[in-house]
Amino acid sequence: MYRSGIGYDTHRFAEGRKLVLGGVEIPHARGLEGHSDADVLTHAIADALLGAIGERDIGHHFPNTEETIRGISSLEILQRVGEILAKKKCRIANVDATLIAEAPKIGPYLEAMRGTISAVLGIDVLRVGIKATTNEGMGALGREEGMAALAVASVEQSE
Ligand SMILES: [Zn+2]
Repeated sequence: MYRSGIGYDTHRFAEGRKLVLGGVEIPHARGLEGHSDADVLTHAIADALLGAIGERDIGHHFPNTEETIRGISSLEILQRVGEILAKKKCRIANVDATLIAEAPKIGPYLEAMRGTISAVLGIDVLRVGIKATTNEGMGALGREEGMAALAVASVEQSE
């Protein structure tokens, strides 16, 4: 049986933080605010995977009230989500994600992100799609107040 899930996440920009997207550190004047490393792309992907198996979101599985996950790499969260799927005998068919941000330019880092995400999930890089777009200057994203990410995931569940 194939199942699909959707994930959405958004974080505000904050001064004095590293910008980490898809597990890749990207040079930029500001990073994203959050309890973990605030990797908005990885969070959206993790939520899509959890959604595909009918689980609640990462906020439920990794609550930001838990001190042990303060500053945690979101790749570690994604890896744990992969383990939850494996336990339920679910194999990832594919993941596709779109990052929405006015700046910085993400294009040069997309392949590195695909490599990191696929490695953490233990799947072929061809099963991971990552794209980036701007919000055409509109709204909060257009004013560079933060970034957002959307993701979908398909998983195959064996009985
Ligand atoms: Zn998040």
